[in-house]
Amino acid sequence: MSKLWKRFKSLFKREKQFQFLFVEDVPNKFKPKIVYIVTNNNYPWEIVMLCPCNCNKILYLNLMKEYPPYWTYEISKEKKITLHPSIHRIVGCQSHFFLRNGVIIWC
Ligand SMILES: [Zn+2]
Repeated sequence: MSKLWKRFKSLFKREKQFQFLFVEDVPNKFKPKIVYIVTNNNYPWEIVMLCPCNCNKILYLNLMKEYPPYWTYEISKEKKITLHPSIHRIVGCQSHFFLRNGVIIWC
C-alpha cells in the first residue's frame, strides 16, 4: 500500500480508533487497534502494538527514559491515547505514523 493511498484512506474513511489496555505481560496474541501498555509493579515500561499498516509485525516501544530512545504516552479525558514522538519502522514496511487521540496519522 502506498503512503499516499494510506493518507487518502485515513482522510476520507472514518476508521475505528485505537483503544489502550494496561497489561502485566506482553500478550501472546495481539488484537488490531489496541495499544498494550505493559506495566511492572504499576510502572509502565513498554508499549506493544500491531503495526497499523496490517503487515502483522509487532511494534515494541520503550517507555523507560533511562534507556533512550523512548516514547511517552498521554491519555486524554476522553480516554484517547496519544504517543510521542512518531513511530518509524526502518525495516520491513517502513511505516511512519503518529498516533494522536486514538487516530493514526500517516507521515
Ligand atoms: Zn507495517
